[in-house]
Amino acid sequence: MTDTATPAPDLDPRTRLFVDGDWADADDTEPALAQVDPATGRTWTTVAAAGIGDVDRAVGAARRAFASGRWSRADPATRRAVMLAWADLVEANADELARLVTTEMGKPIAHSRGIEIPAVCKTIRYYAELADKLVDELPITGPDELALVTREPVGVVGAIVPWNFPLTMAGWKLGPALATGNSVVLKPAEYTSTSALRLAELATEAGLPDGVFNVVPGRGPVAGDALARHDDVDVLTFTGSGPTGRSLLHAAADSNAKPVWLELGGKSPNLVFADAPDLEVAADMAAWGIFFNAGEMCTAPSRLLVQRDILDDFSAAVVQRARARVVGDPMDDATETGPIVSERQLRTVLDYVDVGRSEAELLTGGARLDTPDHADGFFLEPTVFGGVTNDARIAREEIFGPVLSIIAFDDEADAVRIANDTPYGLAAGLWTSDLSRAHRVSRALEVGTVWVNCYEEGGLSVPFGGRKQSGNGRDKSPHALSKFTGLKTTWISL
Ligand code: NAD
Repeated sequence: MTDTATPAPDLDPRTRLFVDGDWADADDTEPALAQVDPATGRTWTTVAAAGIGDVDRAVGAARRAFASGRWSRADPATRRAVMLAWADLVEANADELARLVTTEMGKPIAHSRGIEIPAVCKTIRYYAELADKLVDELPITGPDELALVTREPVGVVGAIVPWNFPLTMAGWKLGPALATGNSVVLKPAEYTSTSALRLAELATEAGLPDGVFNVVPGRGPVAGDALARHDDVDVLTFTGSGPTGRSLLHAAADSNAKPVWLELGGKSPNLVFADAPDLEVAADMAAWGIFFNAGEMCTAPSRLLVQRDILDDFSAAVVQRARARVVGDPMDDATETGPIVSERQLRTVLDYVDVGRSEAELLTGGARLDTPDHADGFFLEPTVFGGVTNDARIAREEIFGPVLSIIAFDDEADAVRIANDTPYGLAAGLWTSDLSRAHRVSRALEVGTVWVNCYEEGGLSVPFGGRKQSGNGRDKSPHALSKFTGLKTTWISL
């Protein structure tokens, strides 16, 4: 910890690399990462940053663990038991993990405790339970042959994740990768390393063999890039921004042509038709969706498409909810929206607010909170723009903050045209009482998930991911297993 760091009360963050089941120093060419609490603007600890050599050592440890067979060839029932024990330990340490996440990136503590940590536990348990229940294939052949199609782990998985749901995103990669016997090297985001390091420590405590799960905190263009370019990483799984995703495709092409699974950003449309079953609920969810997690959500319904007949009333209802939102100290149980993750991200969002003022009408918000309690933190008022057209920059670019653009549409065809007129294709919301319209519009939307008369719903049993520039992979559900396994055909002549 540097002299200037102000420790967070009651937290004992792990701040070194986690390699081969143990803490490791980073080689000293990379300056450590200062961890700034976005609620106070103060550095609360520093974390070692992995360099290229450190990443190489972590990949080496993962490879040796894989080759040893202690996990990759373990009885699937053993993998299940270890992962269930790990989930129990995460649950037992939920309060500490929740406070780490909130201190790292400003998520309200109620959401860290009630959403983030339970999501990791559920994910680990879901894939633990799948570990010993998978079946391979015995395709039909001629009478004198036997063909076996078996699913095998790919080997060493490189996982690079963002900071907005740091443990949920890590869990979505680790669950299916570990359940099928792979070894993993995880590169957490620069802001959220301490929660990832603790997650790995708990996995080892639960009995995961050394080297199977390694964590290399570090800078994206250094540690992340080294992982992406490593010739001994068999597959790369990534959640984050489009530009980084594209750089990973280059890194893979320039190295060993490893498959790259991308879960990228979005500019999700939320279509509210005049015949929505309950416009109050639709307004609740429109506001909740964009202001939850301070708008730092890949699926945030940042384009609210409203049928022109109800535009004024519905916009007023959303503005009223934006103003009622409780913004403040993320450690306060009553807080609904915490700070933006960093000063840099806050500046980016404020720049978009300035752009929005020139393109549309600011209906509410738009200012940094400057009360004495908030002045040093990175807080922004929930912000709503009306009269937005779909060619505006605030309608086309992912802002990743609590900023909503309201766009009017005339009829169903107009709504679908506007919704699909975006480079992204992650998710969409759709509010209507007309069953046929629900199916028609859902089919026409070029996205990975459509929520009808709800938003942001879904359990582990359904796949999640995008189309177009929102990515190619699917997290969650048994479909995620195919990212981390290869099929082998064994043909036997009888
Ligand atoms: P980011 O791309 O800046 O960073 C994501 C991760 O990539 C971090 O760990 C970072 O260190 C690493 N990274 C950065 N540059 C790299 C490089 N050159 N080589 C290798 N790794 C590198 O994204 P972010 O700001 O952390 O996250 C926000 C983005 O993530 C948004 O676009 C959001 O929509 C997206 N996201 C998508 C999903 C999804 O499931 N589709 C979920 C959450 C977030």
